Amino acid sequence: MNIAIDGPAGAGKSTIAKLVAEKLGFIYVDTGAMYRSIALYFINNNIDSEDDKAVVDACDKINIQIKYEDGVQQVYLNGENVSVAIRKEEVGNMASKVAAKKPVRDLLLQLQRDIATENDVIMDGRDIGTNVLPNAEVKIYLTASVSERARRRYEQLVEKGENPDITKIEADIEQRDYQDMNRDIAPLKQADDAIYLDTSDMTIQEVVEFICDKAKV
Ligand code: C5P
Repeated sequence: MNIAIDGPAGAGKSTIAKLVAEKLGFIYVDTGAMYRSIALYFINNNIDSEDDKAVVDACDKINIQIKYEDGVQQVYLNGENVSVAIRKEEVGNMASKVAAKKPVRDLLLQLQRDIATENDVIMDGRDIGTNVLPNAEVKIYLTASVSERARRRYEQLVEKGENPDITKIEADIEQRDYQDMNRDIAPLKQADDAIYLDTSDMTIQEVVEFICDKAKV
């Protein structure tokens, strides 16, 4: 069985998907982590994401592997575990740029489909219900207001000991929404058969229950 969760940055997709996976005994697949790993390669190697030839050359040199260690997804970039390094804000912002490029999307599509074919998965991203797993049994479009998403991200960063600027977080979220929703290839949008869920006024538990119920039907 496949559950697809799409939605904008900071909507709570990964928090919710992890909990649903635990409850249902599914594997949680975080596709954003794959795009972030490619973004990290671009940052570390000073590659211009607007230089088409450089993007193609880089994709030839990138190998992404997903492994599960104690049930938790780990991402390997050319053999190195980058699961922690990819969590920085600058990597997320670069991910949104590289994710607009066809060679990058082509590199990840088959990997994502293979994992979903071999396992019961809950997979989150931007184009899972529309493009990666069009036949997923359950599709959810998870969203929340920009201010609520910025507030959640702010609290996550404070918890990590950082000193974030909420205005900058809001601006980054708006820019990422714009880039993800307006690109030519696989833009973020609700699949026709997805359930729209605005979580601005829902608790995490309520959202998890809602999705688990849909998976039972
Ligand atoms: O979900 P996360 O914020 O980690 O994703 C980082 C970026 O990767 C997103 O802003 C989006 O541009 C890109 N992405 C994508 N398609 C996916 C998952 C993520 O384009 N399925």
